[in-house]
Amino acid sequence: SLSDRLGGVFERLRGRGALSEADVRTAMREVRVALLEADVALPVAREFVDKVTEEAVGQQVLRSVTPGQQVVKIVHDALVDMLGADTAELHIDVTPPAVIMLVGLQGSGKTTTTAKLAKLLKKQGKKVMMASLDVNRPAAQEQLAVLGTQTEVATLPIVAGQQPVEIARRALQSAKLQGFDVVMLDTAGRLHVDQALMDEMKAVADISRPQEILLVVDSLTGQDAVNVASNFSAQVPLTGVILTRMDGDARGGAALSMRAVTGQPIKFAGMGEKLDQIEPFHPKRVAGRILGMGDVVSLVEKAAAAIDQEDAERMANRLAKGQFDMNDLRAQLAQMRKMGGIGALAGMIPGMKKAQAAVDQVGGDKVLLRMDAIISSMTPKERAKPELLNAKRKIRIAKGSGLTVQDVNKLIKMHQEMQTAMKRLKKMGGLKGMLGMLA
Ligand code: GDP
Ligand code: MG
Repeated sequence: SLSDRLGGVFERLRGRGALSEADVRTAMREVRVALLEADVALPVAREFVDKVTEEAVGQQVLRSVTPGQQVVKIVHDALVDMLGADTAELHIDVTPPAVIMLVGLQGSGKTTTTAKLAKLLKKQGKKVMMASLDVNRPAAQEQLAVLGTQTEVATLPIVAGQQPVEIARRALQSAKLQGFDVVMLDTAGRLHVDQALMDEMKAVADISRPQEILLVVDSLTGQDAVNVASNFSAQVPLTGVILTRMDGDARGGAALSMRAVTGQPIKFAGMGEKLDQIEPFHPKRVAGRILGMGDVVSLVEKAAAAIDQEDAERMANRLAKGQFDMNDLRAQLAQMRKMGGIGALAGMIPGMKKAQAAVDQVGGDKVLLRMDAIISSMTPKERAKPELLNAKRKIRIAKGSGLTVQDVNKLIKMHQEMQTAMKRLKKMGGLKGMLGMLA
């Protein structure tokens, strides 16, 4: 799965603070392949990857998840964002009758979906009429009439020889006269998009002024679905998309493509041939399906929540006042040790990244323990007021910690750099906000 693959990419990154551009780009190559395997159209995949790369670079890796897992979460959230965060609904609260028109290629599932939606709306208490405008395929109108009988939904009586526009006009008149709430127009399709079909769709839309024009797309169509969508979208004012055959082995990629190309929400997913097998479209579920990634997202969410909120707040309050003494540095070092790497909080503090790099170079825990030993050898006064540390005091501290004056100087320099960074941040008023994001 994608999460395994990203795990491999990030193996060597474990324990480091921020996601670097180079690492993110490497990961995004895997993401791109995963998207294409899920049938996302190439240009859509490309655009998506660019967007996510920008977002991911520089993000801090949470403790207790791997960078790979974190990238999966970022990708997942971007997918949900792009698919539409919420389930989209039909907008049919108008002076009746509301008109819903379904368009799409032949065999995409328009007629079936018309009956499914009619059944759904009927359950919601709407008085629904269906009308077939498909005069191309023999028995297409009869097919809808049969479905009408099955679902106990009214269908417009068939009049031989009428053209789609005439049928639409008759459906509207009849619905008005008989007090229907909703008229569903099931249109004809073609095997391929052609101009005659588009003209027909435009003419029907012109006279019936639908509240909803839904493009019905077979989710198994894969890459070709994009051409269909962009053609329809360019010529008919679509209000939404319905993906059928989501019960098949569709990997969900068509959803991302449809949304990107039409700019309209996916409203429903067809889940089988039976007339109750239709569901509102759930962006989150489909995002998970595209990535094929199981539990990673919830794992990362838990890790983010586990960051000690109190710690963050306490620290934020001190830092907001520009305070950062040796005690604060010691607390930060302890946190770094606990997390086995730069922690989310520590990572937010500019100088801390540098400290972590130094620590990584020499070899983790040992350095952290040494720094801790130096701070421990200071008096409480010195810790609270590092300015006191003159040559004499430094010699005492070096002896006390079993280290050299040079080591003590290094720590003092690091502290100074961090304090300066902190003051700069205070001036910008930024740190509290940054830390607040963690809470
Ligand atoms: P139309 O030409 O666009 O009107 O397509 P139809 O509604 O006639 O559907 C074509 C075929 O697809 C029929 O056999 C349907 O039963 C089947 N079908 C439609 N929607 C779904 C779906 O969501 N899942 C599955 N498995 N089959 C579907
Ligand atoms: Mg049909």
